[in-house]
Amino acid sequence: MNTSAPLPVRSPYPLIDEDTLARLLLRYRVGQSEQAAVRAFGRIISSRDLADALLSRFDLAEASVGVEPSLRAFCIELARITEWDFTPAWPIRMVALWSECYLSGAVAEFPFVAIEALLASCQQNLFSDRAMVHRLELDILTALVRLGWCLGGLLSEVSIDHEHAFRLDAEDGDAVLGIPNRRRFLTLLAERLSGLADEQILGLLVLDIEWGRSVDVLAMDERDHLRLALSDAIRAVLRSNDVLCTLGEDQWAIILPELLHPAQVSLAGNKVIDACEVLRGNNFPGQRGRFHAGGAWAPEHADDPLGLIQAARSALAAAKTAGRAFDHFSSDLAARGQSDAGFESEVARALESRQFQIFLQPQVELPSRRLVGAEALLRWHREGQAIASPPDILAVLERIGLMGELSRWVIQQTAQVLATLAHAGCEVAVSVNLVADDLNDPELPLFIGQTCETWRVPTSRMCFELTEGSLVPRDGMSKHNLEVLRVGGGRLALDDFGTGYSSMDYLRRLPVDELKLDKSFVERITLTDNDRAIVELMVRIAHTFGLDVVAEGVEDVATETVLREMGCDRAQGYLYAPAMSVEQFIKWWGARREGALDTPVL
Ligand code: C2E
Ligand code: CA
Ligand code: CA
Repeated sequence: MNTSAPLPVRSPYPLIDEDTLARLLLRYRVGQSEQAAVRAFGRIISSRDLADALLSRFDLAEASVGVEPSLRAFCIELARITEWDFTPAWPIRMVALWSECYLSGAVAEFPFVAIEALLASCQQNLFSDRAMVHRLELDILTALVRLGWCLGGLLSEVSIDHEHAFRLDAEDGDAVLGIPNRRRFLTLLAERLSGLADEQILGLLVLDIEWGRSVDVLAMDERDHLRLALSDAIRAVLRSNDVLCTLGEDQWAIILPELLHPAQVSLAGNKVIDACEVLRGNNFPGQRGRFHAGGAWAPEHADDPLGLIQAARSALAAAKTAGRAFDHFSSDLAARGQSDAGFESEVARALESRQFQIFLQPQVELPSRRLVGAEALLRWHREGQAIASPPDILAVLERIGLMGELSRWVIQQTAQVLATLAHAGCEVAVSVNLVADDLNDPELPLFIGQTCETWRVPTSRMCFELTEGSLVPRDGMSKHNLEVLRVGGGRLALDDFGTGYSSMDYLRRLPVDELKLDKSFVERITLTDNDRAIVELMVRIAHTFGLDVVAEGVEDVATETVLREMGCDRAQGYLYAPAMSVEQFIKWWGARREGALDTPVL
C-alpha cells in the first residue's frame, strides 16, 4: 500500500503572531542588545557548522526509527537560531517541527536536551579552552541562553497543548480520524432523536469491516492511514448534515437526520459501502476486506438511542450472515435475533454447568500408523436438540467474552484425560486448541503447570495448537507467553497451516515445534500436481526448520500414500478415526494395539 503520504497532523499549534512573540521575548528578557549579540554570533559560525556540532553531541540513532528523521530536522533548524530575524516565521517553523517529533513519539524533554546541547556547542565555539574571556563573548552567551529558554518555554507549551488535545480526543473524539467517538456518538444520537419532529425520519447506519489478515500485520501508522482514508471516503459521499462517528477500530456509525423516506437509509448504506470498496480497490488493492452495513430508522424501529442502535446492529448481523453488503432492520429479523440471544445464553449456561465434553481424535505416525497423539476437540450433546458445531459454540463464546474460560476448562479436562489415558497404559500426547487471547493471559502458563501437577501428568504431554493468525505477534506479550508455554515443557503447533499468511518467516521466527497442514490443502494433493508440489514444498521447508509435520483431514489411503512419500511425519483424519469419547478412544487404541502397533496397516 502507499504509505508515503504523511498522516495529517491535526494539531492545535499555539498561535504565534507579532504580539505574542513580543510578549514572549520580553518575558525571557531578550531585548535589542541580545538580538544584536545573537546576530553577531551568526557571523562567527555558520548555522551548518553549528548544526554539525550540535548533532555530534548526541546519538540520534538511539531514538526509535520513526522519530529519528524528525529529530534530525528539528536540530538542523534549531542551529539556524543565529539567522533568526526575530519575526514569527522561525518560531512557527520550530513549533511545527517539534509537533511532528512529539506526535511521532519523541520524549517531551527533547527540546531542552537539544537546546542545552546547542548552548554547549556555542560555548565551545566561543571560548574553546581559553582562560581569558571577552565581555562581548559573555554577552553573546547570555543572549543565547535567554533565547534558548524562550524557545524551550514555547515548545513545552506545544507539548502540553498536544497532551491536552489527546485527552480531549480520548473523551469525545478519535485522535486520528478527528470524528466523534462512541461516547460522543451516543450523546449526538440522543440529541438528534429528542429533536425529531413529527413526520420526520432519522436513519442510523452501522458499518463494519472484516479485514483480511494482511491488515492485522500493518504497522500502527499504516493502519491509521487506512482508517483515515476510509473515513474520508465515507464522509465524501454523505450529506453535510449526516454525522459520521467511529465505534471502534473497524466500525463506524452514521446518523442520517431529516430523511423524507426510509429508502434513503438503504441508499446511503449502499453508497457508503460502494465508496469503501472503490477506495480499497484503488488505493489499497493489496488489502482484502469485507464491508457490511446495517440500517434502521426512527421512529418506526425504535425511538430511543439504544433501541435504534440495537436494531441497526441486528440488521448488520443479518447482512453478515447472509453475505450481503447491506441489510435493514425488519420485524422477522427481530425474531431471529431473539433466538440467537437464546442460543447465547444456552452456551453460557452449558459452559458454567459443565455440559461440554472433550472428544479425542487420534494422530498416527507415518508410515507405521502407530498412535502417537490425539487432539482434544469440543463436543456438546444437547438433549433433543441438533448438534451444535464447535465453530458455532466458539463464535458465541468469543462474542460474550468467555473464550478464556473455555480454554482453561479444556486444559483442565485434558490434564484429567491424560491421567486417565496413562492409567490405561496409553501414554500419548494430547493437543489442545488455544486462541489468540489466551496468549495475553499472563497467568495461563502457571495455570497449565498447576493443573498438570494436580493430575500428576507431565506438561510435556500437552501440545498447544494455535493458528497462524493468533501467533502474529501483536505485542511483546504474546511472544513472551509462547516462550513461557514452551519453557513449561508443552509443545506448540501451528494449526491450519496454509489458510492464513503461510509465511515461511513465521516458521523461522516463532518457537513452534510442529506444523499442521490444513485439510483444505491435504484433500487436494491427490487432485493436481500443482497442489501436491505446494504441499511437498511446505513439508520440506518445515523439516528444514526442524518441525514435525502433521496432516489433517486424511480421509483415504491415496492421500495417505502421497503424504508418506513426501515424508510427512504424522496424520489425523477420518481414515483412522473421527473424534471419540475418552472411553471409545481407549477401546479403539486397545483393539488396534496388537495389529497396528508394530506392523503398518496399509
Ligand atoms: P481444527 O483444530 O482444525 O480441528 C480439526 C477439525 O477437523 C475437527 O472439527 C475435526 O472433527 C475435523 N476433522 C478431523 N478429521 C477430519 C477428516 O478426515 N475430514 C474432515 N472433513 N474433517 C475432519 P471440529 O471438531 O468440528 O472442530 C472444528 C474447529 O473448532 C477446530 O478446527 C478448532 O479450530 C475448533 N475447536 C474445536 N474444539 C476446540 C476447543 O476445545 N478449543 C478451541 N479453542 N477450539 C476448538
Ligand atoms: Ca486444531
Ligand atoms: Ca486445524
